Amino acid sequence: MSDAPRPPQTAVTHAIPPVIGIDLGGTKIRAIVTAHDGEILGEDIRPTDAEDGQDAVIDRLAASARAAVAASGLPLASMVAVGVTAHGTVDFDAGILHQPPNLPGWDAVPLARLMRERLGLPVFLENDANAAAYGEWRYGAGRGLRHMIYLTVSTGIGGGLILNGAMYRGADGAAGELGHMTVDVNGPPHNCGMVGCLEVMASGTAIARMAHEAVAAGRSPLLARLAAAEDELTAAQVDEAAEQGDPAALEILSRAAHYLGVGLANYINIFNPEAIVIGGGVTKIGGRLLEPAFALAKARAFRLPSERVNLVVAALEGRSEVLGVSALARDSV
Ligand SMILES: [Zn+2]
Repeated sequence: MSDAPRPPQTAVTHAIPPVIGIDLGGTKIRAIVTAHDGEILGEDIRPTDAEDGQDAVIDRLAASARAAVAASGLPLASMVAVGVTAHGTVDFDAGILHQPPNLPGWDAVPLARLMRERLGLPVFLENDANAAAYGEWRYGAGRGLRHMIYLTVSTGIGGGLILNGAMYRGADGAAGELGHMTVDVNGPPHNCGMVGCLEVMASGTAIARMAHEAVAAGRSPLLARLAAAEDELTAAQVDEAAEQGDPAALEILSRAAHYLGVGLANYINIFNPEAIVIGGGVTKIGGRLLEPAFALAKARAFRLPSERVNLVVAALEGRSEVLGVSALARDSV
């Protein structure tokens, strides 16, 4: 037996160098410092205040990162990399964020370089849906799989593809736009350029639109009362009306579930994944939306991939993006 002193337990925990992960949202910035197993060692949350302009927001990202590092009690120099995630198209290799829809006026922003200049660390940039897919794959509902599809259903519908044990980005980083696959060729047009895409048929925005149509047509006094009480109807209110047995609300959720199921059946047939992980705020509706969607997807897809696939709800809700981009940064250095 050696008499050499053992390092204290905390030194062992931190022996695997930590990374910084930053989620740049339209209203909120969140920075975390994580250990290799996803344990959060330090965190900072502050408003984006996007109206102050691009330079001020990027300075704020760096300040938030430094605050998260300070909260972790570790020196900035011990960080191995920084991951930044944002909404919009991202060129991962070039580190460029293209026209983020929630940050008006931002065009093609070399965010990885601008953050590297501010923090002096390697920086990796990934879009939020891909980062969430990576997070669920490394730490959440898709852990250990080789083929996993991630779908987020919120005000919009986004996706990320883990294929053959790696993120699939396509030629321009624009792959995985699972929400903009047409599921009804006679459906309404969407600002993406398609008609009847999954997002325009089954997102939270779509559910709210159908609710407003039901109110305008006089088909639901209950939704009309809810609409009068609030500024605008949400998917959560449609769920609340459905809970009370409102026929129009039940029909709206059943329509959204139908189109979601059609989308899922297509992904199962195209990708033959081991799992499709579904996240996003609209999944809080739960069984009333997801059970019929899952049943329809399983019934319509080919038998072998249908028997194989697990249709599951995301495990890291709200943190999958920032944990995912942290793991991605660590894996990329
Ligand atoms: Zn679309």
